[in-house]
Amino acid sequence: MKIAPHHIAGTPEAALSAALGTHVDYHPMCGWPDDCMVQWGHGIIPSTPFFEAFPAGTFIRGEGETIEAAERQAFAKWEADRNCDHRWGRARSAGNTYTNGAGWCRRCGAFRSSMFAPVVTFGAHRKPLGKSESWLLSSMETDADMNARMDARYPAERGRRAKQKRILQIRRKLFGERSDKWF
Ligand SMILES: [Zn+2]
Repeated sequence: MKIAPHHIAGTPEAALSAALGTHVDYHPMCGWPDDCMVQWGHGIIPSTPFFEAFPAGTFIRGEGETIEAAERQAFAKWEADRNCDHRWGRARSAGNTYTNGAGWCRRCGAFRSSMFAPVVTFGAHRKPLGKSESWLLSSMETDADMNARMDARYPAERGRRAKQKRILQIRRKLFGERSDKWF
């Protein structure tokens, strides 16, 4: 498994975590895959111990009385995921349907970020940037530190972020920006 940088002594992320008082000493004990990133801690509100794992294409979270219990719960979910003969759909069991390509298994509830092609709405990009989009594009164009951190942390997302930046730039050029809306 890959331990998230903020848990590794000596990294800038660990220094920040210590400064924020969020550092939690823990050693994972389950057999996560080699390429799976893991992290843990205590939630903010409520302060529930949690353990999160990022196996390829998915995200798994466990909660419990202790971080160890949270990890065991997360690992049980991961084992259920691996042992299921999945039936994928766009609808989450809670009821809402996602159009961004995410999929949920109707049998075990497993999640995949890119199970389907996104549902495209024609003309969705033919509008000015809202405030939050202007801010996001500006940070993508100017904040080299943020971009380097994102690329290091989510290398598989690099292509998607580059495409998002390009779309925002084209919308700004063709339709401009407006400050009375967020999107
Ligand atoms: Zn399943």
